This record gives sequence, C-alpha cells and structure tokens, in this order.
Amino acid sequence: MNNCVSRRKLLGNAGAVAALQGWSALFRGNLHNLDSFANAPSDSPAISERIVDMHVHFDEKDPNFISDLLRLSDRLNLTACVLTPFANRKVVLDAAKQHPTQIIPFGFVDLDAPDVVKQVEELHAMGFRGLGEMEFVKKPYNDPSYLPVYEQANRYGWIVLFHTGIVLRRKFDEPEDVASGRMRPIYLEEIARRFPKITVLGAHCGNPEYEWAAEIARWNPNVFWDLSGSTLTKMQARLNDLQKIFWWSNTEWQSPEWKVKTPGGDTSAFIKIVFGSDNGLDGIEPVVKQYHALFEACAIPEHTRKMIMGGSLSKMLGLSDGH
Ligand SMILES: [Zn+2]
Repeated sequence: MNNCVSRRKLLGNAGAVAALQGWSALFRGNLHNLDSFANAPSDSPAISERIVDMHVHFDEKDPNFISDLLRLSDRLNLTACVLTPFANRKVVLDAAKQHPTQIIPFGFVDLDAPDVVKQVEELHAMGFRGLGEMEFVKKPYNDPSYLPVYEQANRYGWIVLFHTGIVLRRKFDEPEDVASGRMRPIYLEEIARRFPKITVLGAHCGNPEYEWAAEIARWNPNVFWDLSGSTLTKMQARLNDLQKIFWWSNTEWQSPEWKVKTPGGDTSAFIKIVFGSDNGLDGIEPVVKQYHALFEACAIPEHTRKMIMGGSLSKMLGLSDGH
C-alpha cells in the first residue's frame, strides 16, 4: 500500500450508479471453481507470457494514470488488477470496459464503513471482480462484524486482497488508530476456511510473519500471497532463505487422503505466490526484476514461474487470451 492517505479520504459516498448489466455479466461467473482450477490443463502460451499484477493502486491524483498504465501494459504485456477507491469506481470501470484484458477492476472499501455491505453489492452489480486492498482495519480481520462482507464475497466467488503484516505510519505527531497486529496473516486462515469460495490473497506475505503465511497457504487451496513491499529488498542478499519458508516442494508431506490441491497440480511450494507490485507505475518493472531474482535464487521451475507471473491469476480471473 502506498498513497493511502488520499485513498482513505475518498472512501464513502455510496450512490446510485446504473448497473452495466451486459458488460458485468461478461465478468460474472467467470471464476473457475477450485476443482476445475486445480485440474486445469497446463497454461496456454498466450496465458503463460502475460504478467498479471495483483497489486496496482489507482492513483486518483494522477490524471494520466489510466493512459500511462495502458502504455506500460502494452510494453510489458501486463494486466493490472486496479485497486480502486469506492469514490473512483466509475472511471476505473469505464477504462476496464474499454480495455478488459489490461485493466481488471477491484474495489477498495473500508471494512469499518457502516454501509460497506451496500458498497460491495454495488461494486458487484457494476461488474467489479473482487475487493482490495483491505487495510487499516479497526479490528482484527476475523472480527465477526466483518463477516457480512466476506459472506458477500463468498457468494460472488471473488478474490479478496488483504494487506498483511507491518504497515506504514502516516502521522508521527498525532494519535492514530492503526495496528499491524490486526492484519496478521494468521487471520486469513479463518476467512479462507469459513468462506471456501473466496480466493484469499494476502499482500506482502505477512511481512515479517512469513512462516505463518506459508503454512496457511500450504493447507488452504484458496490462499495465495504476493511478495510486494519491502520483503524482496530486505532479503535480496538471502533470497534462497525463502526456500526454508516455502519448503514443501516435491515433498510427500501430506497423507494420501489429505492431498491439497494446487493450480495445475504444480508441486512447487512457490505456486502459492502470485505477482504483485504495490508500486507506482514506474516501479512495476523493478519488481518484475526482483521476482526474477527470486526465481533464480530458489531455482523455481519454469512452469511455476509463469504461473506466479500471471498464469494462476489468469485462470482465477478467466482471462483466456493474450492481447
Ligand atoms: Zn499493503
């Protein structure tokens, strides 16, 4: 998460918006269920070359954001899940309608807003594909007051992106009601288990609670993590330490009756990672390079690399072709 102050102040403002039925119907019901997802054949060449970035925050202060994103998308063959403050939902939706292979609209809502369920329903009616990034919550993610939002997301079979782990401090001189401890990765386990149709995507791999993050992903087919944020910078000289965290590649750790499903039956533990940049548009390519450094350091198989960079999210989002 960056630029959170401006995003936060734009929360709210639920209003009547004409539902774009035809277009949103295109996007609804596309999510593969976990069975077909797990048993899907290997990715097509068109899918495998596409980068899908789970973590691109819409910048409402930049009037050229959409046009610059589209240019970058053309250059990198990148599809961006654009995390969109509720107040900006219309402009991002319009752009996604015009460029459906390049912009995937995700709705950023405040879990503590009194009308959050209504906002989520409206986003779904408009054709949004999921929620994110959940962050700056007043209570832990598994608080019962948040369950109605998760119930809706479960009904829609949505991806929900949660900030996990350490979070920046915006104000140094004033009190603020913010705590990283409310966003620990362990809370996502309960959400994933209670709501099996949600794809629970944790941003930042729980930084620094990587071990919990990985173990939760190991047992839960509907949990994935991105490695955006400071982790790949912090660990740049010891990236292969992540093999100790994602340790179960090609390992018969599970008993035969408890086999866990993975996308395409991939046996690399790193299949539970997806690409996310959480950066300004200029910062996306450097994060691509950081992911590639990780692939080399951990000798991640070629097929798994492609799934991380876009294959898994393409399947989840039903993106069937290239540009
Ligand atoms: Zn974040």
